[in-house]
Amino acid sequence: MEIGTILRKTELEKADLIRLLNCTGVEEKQLFQHSQAIRNQTVGNGVHMRGLIEISNICIKDCLYCGIRKSNHQAKRYELSDEEIIRSALFAYENHYGSVVLQGGERNDPDFILRIEHLLKEIKHLSHDRLGITLSFGEQSEETYQRWFDAGAHRYLLRIETSNENLYRKIHPNNRLHDFHTRRNCLRLLQKCGYQTGTGVMIGLPFQKTEDLADDLLFLKSMDIDMVGMGPYLEHRDTPLWAFRHLLGSQQDRLRWGLHMVSCLRLLMPDINIAATTALQAIDPEGREKALQIGANVIMPNITPLTNRGNYRLYENKPGMDEGAEDSTRRLIESVRKSGCEIRLDQWGDSLHFQERMKNRT
Ligand code: SAM
Ligand code: SF4
Repeated sequence: MEIGTILRKTELEKADLIRLLNCTGVEEKQLFQHSQAIRNQTVGNGVHMRGLIEISNICIKDCLYCGIRKSNHQAKRYELSDEEIIRSALFAYENHYGSVVLQGGERNDPDFILRIEHLLKEIKHLSHDRLGITLSFGEQSEETYQRWFDAGAHRYLLRIETSNENLYRKIHPNNRLHDFHTRRNCLRLLQKCGYQTGTGVMIGLPFQKTEDLADDLLFLKSMDIDMVGMGPYLEHRDTPLWAFRHLLGSQQDRLRWGLHMVSCLRLLMPDINIAATTALQAIDPEGREKALQIGANVIMPNITPLTNRGNYRLYENKPGMDEGAEDSTRRLIESVRKSGCEIRLDQWGDSLHFQERMKNRT
């Protein structure tokens, strides 16, 4: 089918998505122009900033792709102090970020749960309730999600990683701690608690096919997700998945698929928030700007204190390891402008999709 005909369809099916994911040359240009126009018509060309604070790389899990997995004894473990976290949040507030993301390895011990609860209250207090807070600490119980929500978090990111259960099993250890159904159910729990719920996938994993990526897009839609962060899978030598690197497409191919995924998702879910992720930048210094041009509308500059930046190494060549918060912010503002978008400061930048979802609930 002609690409123009597909782009005019109101409901995209799996075969259409596969066709769009694979298109090249003039057709690719048409696809990107179309997704950019849809973004501008629905959520506008404003880009929301979230200051990313990577609070710790201590994790109880062993995902086979991740450089900070529990069994990687090469990783130097760290944990930011409360003071460092609060100072980073204050930096975000004073620099008009509108919101922060607290992210880290997964832990579910009572001390950790309590500590996050206290930090949330503290950040809310110091910012006079003005700073929005997104969390990303993996799978937790409904009670924990609720406690954190009540303490002030209002968005949560939990990537499903892949919607293909068989592939999920191949890239995780085979035990109860790494269960596809539990992870999917956590997304439901987050929605139930009232969070704006974000998920996403890795793109270009070993064993992954274009069909899987099309299914991933349909999964995001079927879950009625509010925001998405997805990016290329990047290999890390101290992880078990490194052994399968001969099965990977080139990094340039993974970048291309990443951009096609952003573009297709904007067509499928016009009013959600889509992040231009760091993994895109790891392949191409302009990867994030390219994603903003064709449909993304959120960017997450890293504002973790420099002393620990290098230890949150999920994959090889993670960018921005030696760039301070001021530098990342300045660089980012420049690059957002280059991509033809405008930075939205001092706003939470809630997903339009979430706002509509809430209206329909009442
Ligand atoms: N521990 C939490 C979790 O897993 O949800 C949050 C932190 S975890 C480091 C955030 C994301 O990093 C994961 O959801 C995964 O998609 C991504 N990630 C980990 N290793 C990666 C790799 N080698 N390449 C690309 N993304 C990776
Ligand atoms: Fe831990 Fe998240 Fe890495 Fe998995 S992806 S090992 S849960 S930090």
